[in-house]
Amino acid sequence: MGILEGKRALITGIASNRSIAYGVAKCMHREGAELAFTYQTEKLRPRVEKIAAEFGSDICVEMEVSSDDSIAKAFKDLKGNWLNFDVLVHSIAFAPTEELKGSFIESVTREGFKTAHEISSFSFAAMAREAKSMLNEHASLMTMTYLGSVRSVPNYNVMGPAKASLESSVRFMAADLGPDSIRVNGISAGPIKTLAAAGVSGFRSMLKHVESKTSLRRNVTIEDVGNTAAFLGSDLSAGMTGEILYVDAGYRNLGMNFDME
Ligand code: NAD
Repeated sequence: MGILEGKRALITGIASNRSIAYGVAKCMHREGAELAFTYQTEKLRPRVEKIAAEFGSDICVEMEVSSDDSIAKAFKDLKGNWLNFDVLVHSIAFAPTEELKGSFIESVTREGFKTAHEISSFSFAAMAREAKSMLNEHASLMTMTYLGSVRSVPNYNVMGPAKASLESSVRFMAADLGPDSIRVNGISAGPIKTLAAAGVSGFRSMLKHVESKTSLRRNVTIEDVGNTAAFLGSDLSAGMTGEILYVDAGYRNLGMNFDME
């Protein structure tokens, strides 16, 4: 029996079968979860519907997180299929590409800073607020973050502060929802080639660097992240909330990453 048998999971953030959310859906489906999906735009709908069908689901609702109305409507639409559910996966981020290269100070703009925080961080709390009345006891909420929240990483720029804000939200949300036995955690993934990642300048060099230096000497996969997400969604992680789990092949723990003579 799978560790998510009898649980319902809403997966956001699928743009392709390379998306981290796709890896999450794959692993959660394998572990017995019933799945529903959101798509950002009408253009993405056919692709997400096809992926949903692959995982035995026909529940796909539109959610554009820059709009409060769209977030509210998504949960209203979901209610047409599910009155309640157990797992919410937030796997959404965005910052203008021009701000993901070169100097942070030189590239950051008021508008870009606002957008990065709104789409990549605020949206998680906004989603949780709308979802709350539909969440079962022992529900688990999770989001995807990156090392740039706690270290400066070349070209990650404005996404760094946005991920720091997201990780802080995880802790505040965990404190808020804990008394209702609802857990909130984050997964900090190592770099993975996805559409969003392609927006970060020099991303291929980052992949090469991590592969050659990180403890496990390999990059992580969407399945590595998906398996950790399945664990976090399941009752096996019942005692954990407000945590950031690193799925980065050990990179975060390295103090020096050049070859010694
Ligand atoms: P992806 O491009 O496959 O997914 C990003 C998703 O965000 C897309 O589905 C897109 O539709 C959605 N999105 C963007 N703006 C939106 C909006 N306004 N409304 C609704 N949805 C919106 O890329 P990914 O790498 O799978 O990214 C998923 C998450 O994982 C992001 O939070 C990202 O920061 C995080 N992450 C990625 C990496 C990596 O290297 N790929 C590493 C660590 C964390």
